[in-house]
Amino acid sequence: MNDQVRTETLHTKMFINGEPTPSAAGKTFPIFNPATSKELAQIPDATAEDIDHAVRTSKQAFESDTWRRMPPSTRERLLLTLADLVEKHTDELATLETLNQGKLLAFSKMLEVAGSVQWLRYMAGWATKIEGTTLDLSIAFPPGTRYNASTKRVPAGVVAAIVPWNFPLLMAVWKIAPALACGCTVVLKPAEETPLTAIRLAELAYEAGFPPGVFNVVTGRGETAGAALVKHPLVNKVTFTGSTEVGRIIGRQCADDLKRASLELGGKSPVIVLDDCDPRTAIEGAAGAIFFNHGQVCTAGSRLYVARSIYDEVVQGIAAVADGIALGSGFDAAAQMGPMVSSRHRDKVVGMIAQGKDEGGEVLSRDSASADGDGYFVRPTVIANRACKPLSVVKEEVFGPVLVAMPYDDLEEVLAQANDSEYGLGASVWTNQLDKALRLVDGIEAGTVWVNTHNMVDPAMPFGGFKASGIGREHGRAIVDAYTECKSVCIAY
Ligand code: NAP
Ligand code: MG
Repeated sequence: MNDQVRTETLHTKMFINGEPTPSAAGKTFPIFNPATSKELAQIPDATAEDIDHAVRTSKQAFESDTWRRMPPSTRERLLLTLADLVEKHTDELATLETLNQGKLLAFSKMLEVAGSVQWLRYMAGWATKIEGTTLDLSIAFPPGTRYNASTKRVPAGVVAAIVPWNFPLLMAVWKIAPALACGCTVVLKPAEETPLTAIRLAELAYEAGFPPGVFNVVTGRGETAGAALVKHPLVNKVTFTGSTEVGRIIGRQCADDLKRASLELGGKSPVIVLDDCDPRTAIEGAAGAIFFNHGQVCTAGSRLYVARSIYDEVVQGIAAVADGIALGSGFDAAAQMGPMVSSRHRDKVVGMIAQGKDEGGEVLSRDSASADGDGYFVRPTVIANRACKPLSVVKEEVFGPVLVAMPYDDLEEVLAQANDSEYGLGASVWTNQLDKALRLVDGIEAGTVWVNTHNMVDPAMPFGGFKASGIGREHGRAIVDAYTECKSVCIAY
């Protein structure tokens, strides 16, 4: 399979109750190859009726003996089998991802597919390690009564998982792997632009032996299919990754319904370079922090703060890196950066660069729109903001390859600037001065602070946001609490 993939070979139906399923109303919408802007396929546009079907299927599967009474070691084995199948289908899944999302094929393989395998294997282990506690109670009433009390963790129920388009396969796995390990059933809604790998993942889960209905995929638009899923009364828990704007809508709905919700939202992550940092290290590190995955990363290092003594050298150096980056289709081995995911997103990114210029930012790199061919390309862009003006590009998430750089004079000042954001997802500090690094680690308001690295994630390391970057943490030990309820058991004797 490659750029010229025959579209009739794509799996384009929803996957409900173990079966490829069209929308009951027969409605579809097109998806595109972002490198060529050509239509790839028509995808079912789920209505509230389709969502109801998927959720009811999921509820039935949750309540059936084949899932609920399944020994945890069998759930673990199913997830490990799914990991093996994903690994076996590396080339197919990576090709689908590059075709649909636009990222470089090497990254689709290394990050999306190999990362998904890692997450599936790590989360599989939790299935057999869910445990409660025994409790000694102090109140003996009526007098003389004794109590045997304990807690147990029980699966949360039907999980609605809604994910964005920047890492379509990996984000799907971040949700489904822990939910299934904990004994929940799942209805997953991928982003409307990038449904192909999620559909294939559900088919592979069925092939691995998951009972029908345990993992369903519905495709459609956020405002219709996504909203109907969040609102459905049989959904017990919503897990969402996406923009802060949509996160607020979902959070409000879940509050009204008293549903459990985990929200992984937007970011505007600062990269702080101290004066002792070798400028070459800073240039490479900061360029990687923003240009990785074409800047379409929630933790993208999009605000750069450089000690004034090395500001010009570092910022000019990053602009030179940006100008040297070859844009092209993710299937082109010479390409170093692919397109934006959609024409709408390309227009948003180009518009924010123009606004940055209008507000007084100085663009140091080549014309961002110069790569605009058939696909949705935007050239990597570096904006100098020497006067530290409150540009919109400093405040708002661009979600593209756009860096804005400010100089600073002392640690307190840069800490205040780094924290002057509604977001708090990630941050990185570049220095070998341990005391200063630790002061910044202590002071930065963010869910993850990296030192001398950026964008590093792992299934063992909790991930999530402070402030408007979200509620809750994914990965690690805490994931069990996210997909289970605590039940106290109290026996009088
Ligand atoms: P988005 O517009 O918020 O969409 C995310 C998902 O929510 C999509 O599946 C979308 O469907 C759906 N949706 C939209 N409106 C909805 C509604 N009213 N009810 C229910 N679902 C709805 O975000 P995006 O543009 O796809 O992704 C980019 C954003 O995700 C950025 O802000 C980025 O920072 C964030 N992100 C965060 C993390 C993290 O872990 N914190 C990771 C990756 C990305 P449609 O596809 O139909 O719009
Ligand atoms: Mg969207």
